[in-house]
Amino acid sequence: MTASPSPVWHPFTQHALAPEPPVVVRGNGAWLETASGGRILDAISSWWVITHGHCHPRIVAAIAEQAGQLDQVIFAGHTHPAAEALARGLVAMTPEGLDHVFFSDSGSTAVEVALKMAAGYWRHTGEQRTRILALEHGYHGDTIGTMSVGARGVYNAAYEPFLFEVTRLPFPEKGREQATLDALEAACREAPAALLVEPLILGAGGMYIYGPGVLAEMAAICARHGVLFIADEVMTGFGRTGTLFACEQAGVVPDIACYAKGLTGGSLPLAVTLCRSAIFDAHYSTDRARTFFHSSSFTANPIACAAAVANLKIWAEEPVRGRITALGDAQEERLANFRDDRRFANVRRIGTIAALDLVAPDPGYLADVGPRLAAFFRDEGLLIRPLGNTLYVMPPYCTTAEDLDLVYGAIATAADRFGRA
Ligand code: PMP
Repeated sequence: MTASPSPVWHPFTQHALAPEPPVVVRGNGAWLETASGGRILDAISSWWVITHGHCHPRIVAAIAEQAGQLDQVIFAGHTHPAAEALARGLVAMTPEGLDHVFFSDSGSTAVEVALKMAAGYWRHTGEQRTRILALEHGYHGDTIGTMSVGARGVYNAAYEPFLFEVTRLPFPEKGREQATLDALEAACREAPAALLVEPLILGAGGMYIYGPGVLAEMAAICARHGVLFIADEVMTGFGRTGTLFACEQAGVVPDIACYAKGLTGGSLPLAVTLCRSAIFDAHYSTDRARTFFHSSSFTANPIACAAAVANLKIWAEEPVRGRITALGDAQEERLANFRDDRRFANVRRIGTIAALDLVAPDPGYLADVGPRLAAFFRDEGLLIRPLGNTLYVMPPYCTTAEDLDLVYGAIATAADRFGRA
């Protein structure tokens, strides 16, 4: 008897190229296990979410304990200890000034909430400011609102009439930062509502890295013009760029900050949007029209909050920062072998994130190279999903030197197979 085809519609997948995805049944540290007993090294932290490794025992225990006590409660007009502990913990560990915490369920909704907070702030303080400034190559999520502020590309092209207008600033390429700052200065004179950026590295847009100096200058220009500065730390948060939050490296305190992915150590979906008091106060009123109208059924789910509280404890009590530094150094060592290899360009790294662009024999060859590379790595027992011809490695912090050797060995083999001769 043959099984009928699966009804599952997978996200971000050219189904014709991946008709039979591996069935993953277990996760442990940096490794996944499939139903047929195969092992897969998770070199991209399962879409950048897993920080301390799959099924970290302290997070598993916190989830089990909370699940037996309180699974879910409406968060409108109610609260629970896990949400309170998490909000207090986040305010204590994020830059001073971010005093209020709004809960949602994904990175996209955290950014969507940030955009709504900015819109509400200006509406309620009586100024007509609606335009959002964003960086070229930016990615901020998959809802219509967040797709609008992301760079235009294949993922949002089909929805064009629904997307609202934003002003996009050139990416602050090394040596050409002034062009970005000049464009920002000019755009700020038009009284926009906010600037939204991924600090220090634009992830899904291609792993483009820029410096803390220009980030600090962008924040300063916003402050001078009274434009809200929103940091999308959905990917960068919780250690990815070498510090707990990327904004730390620039000494920048955003007006609004978004965190998701690593917030629960990657174990459960949860997101937060933190803001300064002025933004909360603009909404704090008995006037119903000023209510912040955003909620979803699972807002501040107690089990997810308990997982996040366990994550904060791990940060406080385990040598996470040391692991991150060691992982970054170990990646740097291995990247060195590729810097003079003409089959690769733009070999780069920030914190635990390494990236390099595969130079293909001819541009036409690149058309489907991303999915074909992903299939190649899958056959090698590795979870790596390139962004076009950009290969990147963003592993859990428990990844060992031996694990990294497997990853970089496979990248070298991929160059033999797909790269320029
Ligand atoms: N912002 C950034 C910077 C991201 O990297 C992502 C996810 N890749 C998102 C927002 C959206 O997060 P989610 O996929 O959890 O909705």
